[in-house]
Amino acid sequence: MEHLTRRDTLKRGGCLLVGTALAGCSERSAAPQQDSSAAGAGEPSRDLYDSGTVPVAASGWTRTRGLGPDYPGLEGDLDTDVLVVGAGLAGGSLALHLSELGIATVVLEARQPGWGASGRNAGHVLPLLKDLEVFEAFPDRGRAFFELFSAHHTIPFDIAERYGIQCDAERSGYLNAMTSQRAFDKFARAAAVSADRLGQSVRHLDAAVMRELTGSDYYPYGVLYESGGRINPYLFTGGMVETARGKGARVFGDTVATTLSPDGKGWRVRVANGASVRCKRVVFCTNAYATAIVPAFQHGCYPLTAYALSSEPLPAAIAKTVMPSRATLAQVPIDLNPFIVDGHDRIITASIPSRTRPADAMWHFQQHLDWIHRTWPQTRDAPIALQAYWTGRVAMREADFPGMYELSPGVYGLMHFNAWGNVLAPLMGMALAQAIASDRPDRLPFPIVQPDRIAHPGKQELLIRSIMIPAARMAQSLGII
Ligand SMILES: Cc1cc2nc3c(=O)[nH]c(=O)nc-3n(C[C@H](O)[C@H](O)[C@H](O)COP(=O)(O)OP(=O)(O)OC[C@H]3O[C@@H](n4cnc5c(N)ncnc54)[C@H](O)[C@@H]3O)c2cc1C
Repeated sequence: MEHLTRRDTLKRGGCLLVGTALAGCSERSAAPQQDSSAAGAGEPSRDLYDSGTVPVAASGWTRTRGLGPDYPGLEGDLDTDVLVVGAGLAGGSLALHLSELGIATVVLEARQPGWGASGRNAGHVLPLLKDLEVFEAFPDRGRAFFELFSAHHTIPFDIAERYGIQCDAERSGYLNAMTSQRAFDKFARAAAVSADRLGQSVRHLDAAVMRELTGSDYYPYGVLYESGGRINPYLFTGGMVETARGKGARVFGDTVATTLSPDGKGWRVRVANGASVRCKRVVFCTNAYATAIVPAFQHGCYPLTAYALSSEPLPAAIAKTVMPSRATLAQVPIDLNPFIVDGHDRIITASIPSRTRPADAMWHFQQHLDWIHRTWPQTRDAPIALQAYWTGRVAMREADFPGMYELSPGVYGLMHFNAWGNVLAPLMGMALAQAIASDRPDRLPFPIVQPDRIAHPGKQELLIRSIMIPAARMAQSLGII
């Protein structure tokens, strides 16, 4: 089997992970749907699972402390320096850092903070840039970005600590596990190049240490990034937005930005009820949920639906033996079960939903259970129950790097984070805030480009969901991976 890490696979159109009005769907009550055929009144429909737009209340990340505060809708007209559209990880970080730098900031979110991919992801904090090829196209060949990344690749943990955001942020390590020497050699070689460039600490692990960290004999080879780990991305996003509000940002929920027009030396964004915000600069952080207000952003990526699920807390005896190190686990060469055990002893894992049964929670859970039972035989007789199953939408670009766009002077987009948003979105949000505050967006440590013109937006869904993932699942069921 070809050596494919999650990043490789994403790049090649093979992600292993891992708007719209929600008519008839309550955000407050979203029970996991056990089977698509069992859909009843009040449960999200198959289409919402298919498009990654189930209520965010379906996300297991909302189960620990419930939904965050409801921010009020925008009424009337406002003036500000910077308008941020979209309150996910990117918009949340941008608003937080702008407010901290004293820049007047307004945030508009179509639903509520964390509603998009940021409240739905798998919680992995990945501190690596394995594929360095993409940086060859940067004017400085990536030098400034490497410096930024080296200094801040732990940014989710740093922000959580600095602002006291309670979000189960745990620097427990990012562990890549392999069953063969060949897979290890290939991965370790690539990891060494990147780690060297970024001054990162990477450990090579033998079978004994792997057994100690994972509690399993299945993966005798490993590469550990000690600065990675996990986070509850819904609480983290909400915490950044709330901190921004505390520092003076004005945050509005249930407010869809609908039109954008020039206004004097700046811009005016109107929302559905006719209210508006006049600003010097507007930054769209709308990712794969972009609406028609800026068609170039809406059509500038390959959307891909992914799912994640959480188990009920594991029985205490099992919780001690499954991933006792609590490192975030990825399998190499193919990561069909990105895996964490969170601070509530829940298993959280993710992948790409079946084309034919995207709403079938139990079917997807069973795929992971089979792997869990194989990896930790002691779990075979343990009652591991599904708690929540949800889907979300990832945005992929042609290039394997997020998009920092400028469409007209003062109209920006920061989006398309693929499955790497937990580190890159807060990192790039912070860098953009600093560049705006110093009035030097041209000095960003990454290039400002134009959105891709995507001729076939369904291409990645077809490749990944219909071909690669079913093939990988088959390989897993045959024990090939
Ligand atoms: C199932 C799944 C698993 C993943 N796993 C991981 C992982 O383990 N690690 C990792 O690093 N990344 C992971 N990702 C990717 C990560 O979640 C995203 O890269 C990240 O959340 C993107 O953040 P964002 O702020 O750009 O976008 P989003 O969080 O999607 O936010 C965009 C927001 O814009 C709002 N919006 C859109 N249009 C408008 C408008 N017109 N007006 C107002 N608001 C608007 C939306 O409502 C939404 O809230 C995963 C994603 C999914 C779906």
